[in-house]
Amino acid sequence: MATINSNYQKLPGSYLFSEVARRISVYAQAHPERKIIKLSIGDVTRPLVPAVTDALHAAVDEMGRAETFRGYGPEQGYAFLREAIVAYDFQRRGVNIQPDEVFISDGAKSDCGNIGDIFGADNKVAVCDPVYPVYVDTNAMAGRAGDYDAQAEKWTNLYYMPTVAENGFAPALPTEPVDLIYICSPNNPTGTVLTKDQLKVWVDYANANDAVILFDAAYEAFIEEDNVPHSIFEVEGAETCAIEFRSFSKTAGFTGTRCGYTVVPKALVRDGVSLNGMWNRRQSTKFNGTSYIIQRGAAAVYTEEGQRQIMENIAFYKQNAKVIYDGLQKAGLEVYGGKNSPYVWAKTPDGMPSWDFFDKLLEEANVATTPGAGFGPSGEGYIRFTAFGEAEATVEAVERIVALLNK
Ligand code: PLP
Repeated sequence: MATINSNYQKLPGSYLFSEVARRISVYAQAHPERKIIKLSIGDVTRPLVPAVTDALHAAVDEMGRAETFRGYGPEQGYAFLREAIVAYDFQRRGVNIQPDEVFISDGAKSDCGNIGDIFGADNKVAVCDPVYPVYVDTNAMAGRAGDYDAQAEKWTNLYYMPTVAENGFAPALPTEPVDLIYICSPNNPTGTVLTKDQLKVWVDYANANDAVILFDAAYEAFIEEDNVPHSIFEVEGAETCAIEFRSFSKTAGFTGTRCGYTVVPKALVRDGVSLNGMWNRRQSTKFNGTSYIIQRGAAAVYTEEGQRQIMENIAFYKQNAKVIYDGLQKAGLEVYGGKNSPYVWAKTPDGMPSWDFFDKLLEEANVATTPGAGFGPSGEGYIRFTAFGEAEATVEAVERIVALLNK
């Protein structure tokens, strides 16, 4: 008899975004005359830039001609993209990463989830709270999270690190041994970042304890402050204790196009085994490579034209983030993030529960947000706004919120 992976049975329903969508839909049906503005979704809205679409078109044409047609490519990605990544994302910042330490994929979500394949089931996993849910759920599926405690809204075997205003959104080092540590900077959902000195503390901890940091830099393109590393490998010693996930999704609008990459340094060894070799084995066994066409589109991001064009889109979103940040502050809220990130994270007024404030903004300002509590227990009392919308709609949404809260 076939048995199932019973860890899947332990997963609570994916509640957050379906519940957000349900509440918006119920309200919209009851009030069809109201225009709801969504500052809730973490998805881009600007189209792909011309440098990318030109490269995509050219690659499609190559695939349609016998002389330039390509079948299976290297599972790890084409050299042209791995080399462009190394030159632009790392060597330009003085970081010595080699092309064979870069693995191209269809996005950071898959890699964040699949990386667990190369680690033992007995690793103790530390996550920030609030957190991007993929880290939690994929470890739960692999049996590393224990059981779900619905009362506490926590998994019994995960180590949760509160990442809140009170600690400046810099989690404290664990008080019990942990083996795998997920760090996301710029952070989803808080929009806050860790400085080089703050990351150095984690790198030293991981090296001293033979732990591994799983560093998610999906939002690095939004960083504008000098002391905030774009890569964990800017921190001395990280090459012996960290793996980094990157994505073209928010950098270049690839959420629907799909491309990302993971860096596993050759110097990273645990149990006497190279994790670069293990990830290479995992990828070449279970993954047949990212489409050639898409990799050509991603490589165009690293041209002069591509860089100029994607940075225009990022500047557009960052302007929205500023509008949201300044407006919420004007409305008297305690506001975080937004500077090096497309996410603005605010405390709800007078400690109102997240879902109550979500309902208030939806019903009284007709603005949709995401309640902080949905990202983990320490997200209670916060609300997330995203800067990925249209400029005019963002301004209008913020005006409505300011008017409501100043009433
Ligand atoms: N990591 C974080 C922190 C994210 O917020 C997201 C998407 O929202 C991802 C990874 C997934 O990115 P991708 O589109 O490359 O799968």
